Amino acid sequence: LAAPRAHQLTDADVAAHLQPPEPGDDKYSRGVVGVVAGSAVYPGAAVLCTGAALRTRPGLVRYAGTAGDGVRAAWPEAIVTDGRPADAGRVQAWVAGPGMGTDDDARGALAEVLATDLPVVVDADALTMAAREPDLVRGRGAPTVLTPHDREFERFGVPVGTDRIGAARRLAADLGAVVLLKGDATVVAGPGGTAFVNATGTSELATAGTGDVLAGILGALLATGTPPAQTAAAAAHLHGRTGQLAAARGPLVASDLVRHLPRAVGLVRGSA
Ligand code: AMP
Ligand code: MG
Repeated sequence: LAAPRAHQLTDADVAAHLQPPEPGDDKYSRGVVGVVAGSAVYPGAAVLCTGAALRTRPGLVRYAGTAGDGVRAAWPEAIVTDGRPADAGRVQAWVAGPGMGTDDDARGALAEVLATDLPVVVDADALTMAAREPDLVRGRGAPTVLTPHDREFERFGVPVGTDRIGAARRLAADLGAVVLLKGDATVVAGPGGTAFVNATGTSELATAGTGDVLAGILGALLATGTPPAQTAAAAAHLHGRTGQLAAARGPLVASDLVRHLPRAVGLVRGSA
């Protein structure tokens, strides 16, 4: 049986995910993102992920990790909860993982987020924990999007090999989740076999923290309730465009992506 062809999104397709607010909108209708990222050791992951979510312009970002002081200092717009994710208040999509660690408290926070009926992005340390306990993801009734690079992907026991789409499809079907397999050739597969190949990006993205930015972008886009596989592909597309814009100015660091996001949103919308 031939696998269905993979789609490739254009700027125009992605523009539909980046619509400007309408007169009747308020911060809740534009989407509320919850972020569980960072730790005392890795506060930067929290700052990058929260900043990327904010710059993708949802209505509101709530931060519920253990690096609240760093997030408060960097992003006064974010609403920082010092309690657990379950105490954070109303959220429409969660991002969990970057720099959060894998200790018992981190595991507890991840389990709380995965127990919700909301879309969840599982990245970085959350992938390590999910690979140990895949049933945390398998049993979910709401969309889950895993965002592994190759090494994180292989922790789930599936080799990447040369057929990246095939590998992503296998893991997606096994877990009932969307899998966004990152790298210079980023692919997205949904549990039903739908797949996307990303057309944007630059090798300048091969630097620390860029994945944390992607996770924040994706959380913000998912908070508006659009279909998860296509939304994940849209996030990868916007992230790659942002990298291209930032790299045009010279070598980039992940914070540059956060700064260039508004221009990238404008560019993607403008070519629609
Ligand atoms: P992470 O490994 O979590 O830090 O994420 C790295 C990000 O940079 C992902 O979005 C990758 O797709 C992207 N990336 C890494 N290496 C490359 C590369 N050589 N070419 C293009 N994109 C890359
Ligand atoms: Mg990463």
